[in-house]
Amino acid sequence: DAAIRILDLAKTYAGGKQALKGVSFDVPRGQIFGLLGPNGAGKSTLINILSGMVNKTSGTAEIWGFDIGRDHRNAKASIGIVPQEIVFDPFFTPFETLEIQAGLYGVPKEKRRSMELLRAVHLDDKANAYARSLSGGMKRRLLVAKAMVHSPPVLVLDEPTAGVDVELRQQLWAYVRELNRGGVTVVLTTHYLEEAEELCDRIAIINHGQLITNQPTRELVNMA
Ligand code: ADP
Ligand code: ADP
Repeated sequence: DAAIRILDLAKTYAGGKQALKGVSFDVPRGQIFGLLGPNGAGKSTLINILSGMVNKTSGTAEIWGFDIGRDHRNAKASIGIVPQEIVFDPFFTPFETLEIQAGLYGVPKEKRRSMELLRAVHLDDKANAYARSLSGGMKRRLLVAKAMVHSPPVLVLDEPTAGVDVELRQQLWAYVRELNRGGVTVVLTTHYLEEAEELCDRIAIINHGQLITNQPTRELVNMA
């Protein structure tokens, strides 16, 4: 079974912009899958449909076998999303942020692992700091930890390293690889080919809302 199955997915925004024009692909379980394409290609629209932020116009999307429309609760439990924008409540510390998220997802107290997650993203020394004292890179790492609070089998990152310096990029990549080795299927969007080449087992390219190619990274790189 696929981790994510996208079938004929289309999105036309209110103003008439066709952001997705019938896209189909599977993300195999256990892989790091790259969704590549220039700005405006439709990557965020696709991610936002998976996260429930945007309503699809037609087609279907399944996460871990659960239809995002008909089986919303199970689909949501199966995915963690790291949004492109840095958004969280500045009045809470990183530790509190993860505890609140765990509460929202109904993770029982004895199964919470906020400190472990903070250690994994190298934020344990900031566990009780206020958000205003976190750098942009720290905030991004906190969002990755937040997305993993309910231990979803699938992690999706929307442009995780946009505007991020080289050192942090390496750290984020290392953490993504570590999660993947632990069995998490990872989907990330990027407009950097090098990032996708470096990290991904498989790459799909979209442009103008259409799928251009979808193949193992090795084949794609050999073609170029
Ligand atoms: P829909 O109701 O079709 O899902 P949205 O409610 O998501 O559309 O649209 C929000 C508003 O953002 C739209 O009215 C649209 O005009 C505006 N918008 C236009 N272009 C963009 C863009 N590139 N990114 C974000 N918002 C945009
Ligand atoms: P990417 O993430 O690949 O940069 P997006 O999914 O953000 O692409 O955008 C795809 C297209 O849809 C772009 O032309 C963008 O301007 C448009 N778009 C994105 N969000 C909205 C919106 N809320 N309303 C109208 N148009 C939008």
